Formats: sequence, structure tokens, C-alpha cells
Amino acid sequence: MPADDHDKLLLENVRPAGWQNPKPAERYNLVVLGAGTAGLVTAAGAAGLGAKVALVERAEMGGDCLNVGCVPSKALLRCARAFADVRDAAGFGVAVPQAAHVDFAAVMERMRKLRASLSPVDSASRFRSLGVDVFFGDARFSGSDAVEVGGKRLRFRKAVIATGARAAALPIPGLAESGYLTNETVFSLAELPRRLAVIGAGPIGCELAQAFARFGSRVTLLEVAPQILIREDPDAAARIERALVDDGITIFAGCKVKSIRRQHDERVLEIELKDRALQVQADAVLLGVGRAPNVEGLNLEAAGVAYDAQRGVQVNELLQTTNPRVYAAGDVCSAFKFTHAADAMARVAIRNALFFGRAKASSLTIPWCTYTDPEIAHVGLYEKEAREKGIDVVTFTQDLAEVDRAVLDGETDGFVRVHLRKGSDEILGATIVARHAGEMLGEITLAMVAKIGLGKIADTIHTYPTQALAIKKVGDAYNRTRLTPRVKRLFEGWFKWTR
Ligand SMILES: Cc1cc2nc3c(=O)[nH]c(=O)nc-3n(C[C@H](O)[C@H](O)[C@H](O)COP(=O)(O)OP(=O)(O)OC[C@H]3O[C@@H](n4cnc5c(N)ncnc54)[C@H](O)[C@@H]3O)c2cc1C
Repeated sequence: MPADDHDKLLLENVRPAGWQNPKPAERYNLVVLGAGTAGLVTAAGAAGLGAKVALVERAEMGGDCLNVGCVPSKALLRCARAFADVRDAAGFGVAVPQAAHVDFAAVMERMRKLRASLSPVDSASRFRSLGVDVFFGDARFSGSDAVEVGGKRLRFRKAVIATGARAAALPIPGLAESGYLTNETVFSLAELPRRLAVIGAGPIGCELAQAFARFGSRVTLLEVAPQILIREDPDAAARIERALVDDGITIFAGCKVKSIRRQHDERVLEIELKDRALQVQADAVLLGVGRAPNVEGLNLEAAGVAYDAQRGVQVNELLQTTNPRVYAAGDVCSAFKFTHAADAMARVAIRNALFFGRAKASSLTIPWCTYTDPEIAHVGLYEKEAREKGIDVVTFTQDLAEVDRAVLDGETDGFVRVHLRKGSDEILGATIVARHAGEMLGEITLAMVAKIGLGKIADTIHTYPTQALAIKKVGDAYNRTRLTPRVKRLFEGWFKWTR
């Protein structure tokens, strides 16, 4: 990290120089390995309940989310959106005298400033004041009920592994030798790469590809799957693909990067695209091909904790590992690699580890959002998934082109799509594409958790004009299907009689 005042403040909070690890207690109710979201929530929650807690972090407290994940990426995306608003201002009758351009150094400084401003809440001193014993160093199990850090032994009644994940590597010949960026290094860039090749069109790849394209890089996005954001609803992914292309990004989906070589200052990527050989030149390569769980170096064997290098620590529904004293939460054990999922799992782990709880991680309803512009947010089942599970669904889609607020805002690129269990108004899943889809999805997620049907959403008054009215309109569309020919005939009879 460049050591400007913002980063110095960040480090004072999340990795204070000269920190003295405390003298370990004789035994802890809970030892937490890793101080990312899952570890912090676990430690703060348990200490708040009166447990004696030790928290061990090998790098920076706050983990990926604060330091090299959600926080810096979303700060950059906000600047990218500001650029797009200025670029497109003429369509709103706003004359901008000169073509907009981005001051990359200012964008990065803003990010560092905001990241530092959010860091006190994750800081070592705050956790010490909560009564948590904070240790910096590599945590390593030395038995089924003890962890070692910096030569100190922390004995525990229960432990939670929350060591997160890192950028997965790809065995592309020449990739390592020619040098590449990941989320751990991209937020430290001092200069905007003139040409950027992004390998992997998942959420991280798509978000950063769009941001860098808007900042002025010539971006090529390379994806092995036939579609970007392969997990998402194909119509939704197609909308995002169009938006990325409109931002000037070249997308090669269904391609394979055969090799990379460094030629002076540039990287040359040899690509195979539908049996055609292509070459992409770039000044920097960003790798975003998924996340690998941090299971190495923990000496999990000594604790009797089973794990897998790809899927991470093995847990049951209660988040308990194969050692009944040891639980896990967050990216290290979950396919749902999101901050809010890590937070929710940490709460499950606390209940089960400290109170003989029976909270089940599988009963969590976990929504997610990719913060491209427009955003794509999802909760529950996809149509394809429902079909594979043999569940009959009825799908309602409301295009934003017919939603007044979206029209007035010039943000009609998107839709709300809700899947219902056939024959009922039970919501099984939903996808929203909209500029603020992540904000809109909360209503549907709440409905699913509270078992509120789509009919009730249609009965709920939504303020006019809002984009959230698209959700009510989906409800109205459902209600119209309840007007069966028989009910309609009854109504007609009633009106005839009362005329
Ligand atoms: C670029 C990017 C953007 C993202 N954007 C979003 C977003 O917008 N929304 C969202 O919900 N999620 C987002 N995520 C995902 C989110 O950051 C993670 O899901 C979240 O950080 C997981 O929290 P965690 O506590 O499980 O792991 P981490 O945050 O990875 O924390 C694990 C901690 O454990 C420490 N550790 C590892 N091994 C040891 C050891 N042996 N001893 C001691 N400490 C150890 C690590 O140093 C780290 O601090 C993003 C991720 C990336 C990379």
C-alpha cells in the first residue's frame, strides 16, 4: 500500500505498529481465527454476551471487505458512475463544456480516504475496548483445543475458523512470470493502465472492468463460460453485457486464455475463441476467476478438522466442523462469498458454539448483488434451478421501460422478475436489474423471509414515482391472473344486476 496519510490512518486502526499481543487467558470460551467480517462479528457478538474471547489476525483487521474488497471497489464504482453521469449529461439537458475525464489519482485518494474513515469500527483498539484479546500473527492449531500464535498458546472451549478466501490462481502458462493484478493489488495502483485485460467475468471482474473502462482504460473482458455472470439469469446477464459493451469494453465470452507473455512493458495474451486464435495486448492483467479458501498453514489436521482445498473447511448445517469444538463461518467454508453472508453465518456460529443452539445455516435466505451499472441483484431460486428441482414456477417480469420513475430518471435499462410457486403467490426467487437493484431487492427478500406473498406486496401502497413500484406492478400482474374466466363471469353478473 502507498503510505499516504489515509493509509497510515487505516493501518493505525487495522494493524497498529508496535502492537503488543496480550498475555493469553488460561482458557477462552472462544478463539476466533481471522478478523474479517465473519471473525469480527463472531468476536464482538460473543464478547458482548460476556464470553472470554481471543481474536487472531495475520494481516489487517477488517479482512477483504474493508481493505481489498467491497469497500475500495464500491468507492471506485461510485466515481465510475459519476463519470458516466457527466458523460451522458447532454441527454438530460446539461451542457458540459469539455469532454469529461477521470483524474485516477484523485479517485484512488478518495477511496483511500473513505476506507480509512470506515476503519475505526474494525480496529484493534475498538475490539480491545470490547474486551476481546486481539493477537496479531499466524494462527495455527496445535491440538483439538488449542491454537498457537507467535509462540503463545491459546486454549479454548470452542473456536471459530474465519480465515476467509483469496483470489484463486489459474494455471495459464506465463501468467505468473508476466505478473498480474488481483483484488489484493489492484487498489494500490498509482497509474491507470492504458489497456487492461480482465480474466474472469464474475461479479468482481465485471464490476472492475466497468469501473476501469469508465476511468479511461481500454478494457478486454475474457470469460471461459459462454455468458458473463454465468450464475445469473441469462436475460439479466445479457443486459449487463450490453451495458459493458456500451462502456467500450470488448468481451470475449467462451474463450480460453492459452498463454501470456511479457513483451517489454506489455502483456500479450494468446486467446482461443471458437477455434480461432486471437491476440490481446494489455498493459496490465487483472485476474478475477473465483476465490480459494484460506485453509493452508492452519494445521487443521492437528485439530481433526476436515477440509478441501477448493470448498474449504467442511461444516454441517450448524457450521460445526468435524471437530465438535470447532466451528467455521464466512468465505472459508461457504459457497456464498459475501460480507452479509459472513455476518449472518457468524451469528449462527455464536449461537451454536456458545449456547447449544440449533441454528441452521441452510435456513438463511441470502440475497446478493453485483454492483455494475445497472446492478443485478438476486435472491432465492433461478427459473432453471427450480426446473432442475422439479418445482413448477410461474414467472412475472416487469420491464423498467414501463415504470414512470425509471423513464423520468433515464434508467429504463432493467427489469424486475419474480418466480412464484405455481398455484400460489409464494415467492421462490427474484432477479432485479436496475441502477439501484441492490436497494430494491430488500423488499422481496423480506417478503420471502416473512413468508409474505406477492399478493400482499400488490396490496402495499408504494410511493409514486419510485422505481420500487416495479415490484408492486409485478404483484398487480399476479393479481390479474387471479381473475379467472369464472370469477370474471360472476363479476359481470353482479354488475348487470346492480346497474
Ligand atoms: C474485489 C471484491 C469485492 C467484493 N465486493 C463485495 C460486495 O460488494 N458485497 C459483498 O457482500 N461481498 C463482497 N466481496 C466479498 C467479501 O469481501 C467477502 O465475502 C468477505 O470479506 C468474507 O469475509 P470473511 O470474514 O469470511 O473473510 P475475509 O474478509 O477474507 O477475512 C479473513 C481474515 O482471516 C485472516 N487470516 C487468514 N488466515 C489466517 C491465519 N492463519 N491466521 C490468522 N488470520 C488469518 C485474513 O488475513 C483475513 O483478514 C468482495 C470481495 C472482493 C475480493
